[in-house]
Amino acid sequence: MRVTGYKSHGVGAAAALVNAVTSAEGVANDDALRGVLAGHGFFVDAFTAATAAQLRPWARALRAVFEAETLDTAVDLLNALLADVPMHPHLSDHDELGLHLHYAPPEVDLAHRFRATTLMNLSELVCDHGIDRIGVCAAPGCDRVYADDSRGGRRRFCSDACANRTNVAAFRARRRVR
Ligand SMILES: [Zn+2]
Repeated sequence: MRVTGYKSHGVGAAAALVNAVTSAEGVANDDALRGVLAGHGFFVDAFTAATAAQLRPWARALRAVFEAETLDTAVDLLNALLADVPMHPHLSDHDELGLHLHYAPPEVDLAHRFRATTLMNLSELVCDHGIDRIGVCAAPGCDRVYADDSRGGRRRFCSDACANRTNVAAFRARRRVR
């Protein structure tokens, strides 16, 4: 199991948080954000209103990375965030994952751990694939983001629902006139 790589929970968690906080139909109340973390393998016993308050600006910061139109822009944004989030990589075997890497200092709170994990996993994805694997959903009217860690890497939609409701021919026509 490659728990240090982008196939760990951080990439999906980053997209889910961005969508909850910044998309038009997102729900960003405390319970919803707790659900985002729990749904992506984070321990949420320590989740409080203060955690949620720290995660909302983090979502807006990450959204800029998903929206980056060039690799240079994405790299600059990620490097600025990496300079802002104190890291202290260490090995941990506290749970059923077995021995694995944590990025944040051991004593920090849940929001800090979330920032560190999502940032490192997104950075690894961009190192491996540039910005081809991250973006904003191609469905008309959808402003949700996606991060694609599949083998094929052809994802352009936030969800199967958006992919299905988007007529491929209409999509291509729209691309031609752009
Ligand atoms: Zn969508």
